[in-house]
Parts: sequence; structure tokens; C-alpha cells
Amino acid sequence: MLPNRCLMCQQRILSRRQGICDVCLDASLYKAPICLGCGRQMSLSVAYCGQCLASNTLKVVAPCSYHDGAGHWVGQIKYQAQFAVIEVMVEALICRLYDLIAQGFIQMPQAIIAVPLHPKRLQQRGFNQAWLIARSVANKLQLPLLDNVLIRQVDTAPQAGLSGERRRKNMLGAFALTEKINWQRVAIVDDVVTTGTTVSEITRLLSQQYIDTQVWCLARAEAPGLN
Ligand SMILES: [Zn+2]
Ligand SMILES: [Zn+2]
Repeated sequence: MLPNRCLMCQQRILSRRQGICDVCLDASLYKAPICLGCGRQMSLSVAYCGQCLASNTLKVVAPCSYHDGAGHWVGQIKYQAQFAVIEVMVEALICRLYDLIAQGFIQMPQAIIAVPLHPKRLQQRGFNQAWLIARSVANKLQLPLLDNVLIRQVDTAPQAGLSGERRRKNMLGAFALTEKINWQRVAIVDDVVTTGTTVSEITRLLSQQYIDTQVWCLARAEAPGLN
């Protein structure tokens, strides 16, 4: 058997954990309070920054920044099929979740939905990283994972490089709900949340059925200009 080494520091991991060692994980996790809306660091432990309190309704739960240590490896789940980091980062997400619940900022959802890939993309890649993450979280929290209730009906162009307005237009009508969802609180799961345009579009769809939606991801890429 190959020794179990940390992807980040290359040192041997002696515990059952895979992918990232305790030291590298701890160094990557958020230390300061983070705005649930935009991901901005704040000096006070409140749910939203002043700007988001006035305008933003997204609730994003993430254990770390995409730009810090482990965040890079979250990106590699998709690009390099680097599945070893899923479990360790899901555990970090769950810690963060319980912390936010304890502070009264969010409530535990009743069901989980993974951000779907368009069938063509799924066929090309062979897996949906969001679904792999969602399945792991659902197992650990013993929550139902709702499959096939949300579909991606448009194979959207990549979002990178588009302006905010173009991103929103690009996503409009990209998703559809196939049935009525009989839950009041749902968590949408993605690997990385960047500008939040994709998850905002899904949140908008669910709000039409009066469902309170939060977004869970393993790393968050804050909008440029923040931090
Ligand atoms: Zn390490
Ligand atoms: Zn904010």
C-alpha cells in the first residue's frame, strides 16, 4: 500500500483521513467571520455585511476560501478527479454548518439537492462533482438527497470571463424543477461558489415554491475587490 500523504505538504497522514492533513486543513479554514451573502471578511460575528443586509438574500456556507490552500484542491475535484479531498472538506463544511446554526444564522435544512450538470457535460466528464459532494454530506447528516427534481436543461456557455449582467442572462432558464418539492428548507450543493449567479438562479426557482434555500460549497471564491 502507498503511504497516505497530504496533497499540500506531502507529509504522511497517520489518521484514517485522506487528502489533506490536520495542519494544512486548519491553516486553510476561515478564521474571521464571513458574510453569508458575499463572502467578505467581517470584524463582527454577524450573518451579513451591511451591503448584503440591504440587498443580498443568498446564504452561502463554505469552510474556506477558494484562494487559500485547500480551496485550490477543491477545484481539483472537478479538473483532476481528485476525490481524496471530498471527505475531509465535507467534514470541514459540516463543522462550519454547525457553527452557523449554533450562532442562530441558519437552520438545518430538511433535504439536499446537488447542482446538476447538463447531460452532455456529465457524459463528457463522467461524474458530477457537486453530486459526489452532496451524497457525502447527505450520508453524514442523514438527510435525503433529492435526485432528478432539478434538471439543467440548457448547456450554458462557461461563466468565466462574463460580466455580472451577462452571467445572469446566461443562466436564465438554465434550470427547471421537475416536480413539486415537499420540503420547506433545502440546501443546494456545489463544489465551488464564485459569483453565485448559478446558485442564485436555482434559489430563485425554489423561492417560487416558497422554499427557503441555502447554498453549501466546499470553497468560496470571493468576488474580486473583496478582502
Ligand atoms: Zn499537510
Ligand atoms: Zn456581504
